[in-house]
Amino acid sequence: MMHKKKLTNAIIDLNQRDLKFAKEVKRRSGVDFNACLHCHTCAGGCQFSEVMDYMPNRIIRLVQLGLKQEALTCSSIWICVSCNTCSIQCPMGIDISAVTDAICQIAIDEKADVGEPEILKFHEEVLKTIKRYGRTHKLEIMLRYKFYTHDWFRDMGVGLKMLAKHKLDILPSRVNHMMDIKNIFSQKKAV
Ligand code: SF4
Ligand code: SF4
Repeated sequence: MMHKKKLTNAIIDLNQRDLKFAKEVKRRSGVDFNACLHCHTCAGGCQFSEVMDYMPNRIIRLVQLGLKQEALTCSSIWICVSCNTCSIQCPMGIDISAVTDAICQIAIDEKADVGEPEILKFHEEVLKTIKRYGRTHKLEIMLRYKFYTHDWFRDMGVGLKMLAKHKLDILPSRVNHMMDIKNIFSQKKAV
């Protein structure tokens, strides 16, 4: 699906600033984003900036300003695919995908009204199959995602091609050491 760029609010209420937000994003991401020069190099290099509501450098700015609700509800943090093109080009070596990832985590933890619920749903379905089988089961992910979106026909051609090329296993297969997978998920919960 090609995303349409969402328009951001033209007016941002600075009274809504949360000064602890930047600290929390820094703690979770381990990134010192205050080194950002706002040179826009990251925005220029990002393949997805066309469909983002906030360019990568502007996400950094939202965090610096403590505009928590804008950051937690924006689409860009979900559209980012963590390809790291931006951080490779960044003169200050800022890991923007670690920042977007941290904001996504906070949005989930705080049950924010996320900007891209379909993408979040897709992530959840991927994780569910890993938890169940230790690896992804693409057919199950696709079917559950389709059930959620009720959009059964949009990319059916791709699914049929994948089936014909045996890229979609009908039945899931489990890894041998499921206990290791369970341990990973229980550690994650404890964090
Ligand atoms: S490339 Fe780096 S320094 Fe430049 S705006 Fe992006 S994050 Fe900031
Ligand atoms: S990591 Fe995210 S923000 Fe950076 S270039 Fe890739 S998609 Fe764009």
